[in-house]
Amino acid sequence: MSTPISSFPRTPVLFCDFDGTITLSDNIVAVMKHFNPPGWEDIVKEIISEKKSVKQGVGEMFALLPSSMQNEVRNYILTTAGIRPGFQRLLDWCKAHDVPFYVTSGGIDFFVYPLLEPFGIPADHVYCNGSDFSGDTIRITWPHDCDAECDHGGCGMCKTAVIRRFAKDEYYRILIGDSITDFPGAKIVDLVFSRSHLTDRCAQLGLPHVPFETFHDIVSYLEQGGRPE
Ligand SMILES: [Mg+2]
Ligand SMILES: [Zn+2]
Repeated sequence: MSTPISSFPRTPVLFCDFDGTITLSDNIVAVMKHFNPPGWEDIVKEIISEKKSVKQGVGEMFALLPSSMQNEVRNYILTTAGIRPGFQRLLDWCKAHDVPFYVTSGGIDFFVYPLLEPFGIPADHVYCNGSDFSGDTIRITWPHDCDAECDHGGCGMCKTAVIRRFAKDEYYRILIGDSITDFPGAKIVDLVFSRSHLTDRCAQLGLPHVPFETFHDIVSYLEQGGRPE
């Protein structure tokens, strides 16, 4: 029998980033660093400085790689990506407490799904971008693009669109993330578990956030009811 979590003001729901959050580092950046196609560094800089949308920049970076490298790129990620400690424990905690857990990833299907495979998360609880290797170069597809209510735009995988499906007066919305793809979502949730750039951004904007290093930190916090101090 699951333990009720009455200490939350509303039903909690978790939205968890993938790259640099579930995995120890950002897989897109790792691929670009490793295969080093000319031009990728400028694109990353433009994404980070928010001169270029995530959608545009990620699309442009993968277009620098020939589709013939599909297996090489995939294998590189699958053999080098590490999972952050405590991830299974967080999933177990969610299951035990009937807390819905969604992966909201700006990553790409061909590495997100295989890396998550051992954890048994239902496919309809994983949101990420798609890929098409039928042309000369890798083409990223955007099955979960921004909805009409997204005031950010160019998200690629629109985290706020997913979050908005859970009414804020009904759910206690919690985002877990580390970087630029999490910035728009962080503004509309009740609580953020943050690492890296996302911690800085939350501090700047005065958003309720709890810095974390491993998923064990998050479970410990949630066990105490999940309210910021
Ligand atoms: Mg990330
Ligand atoms: Zn959006």
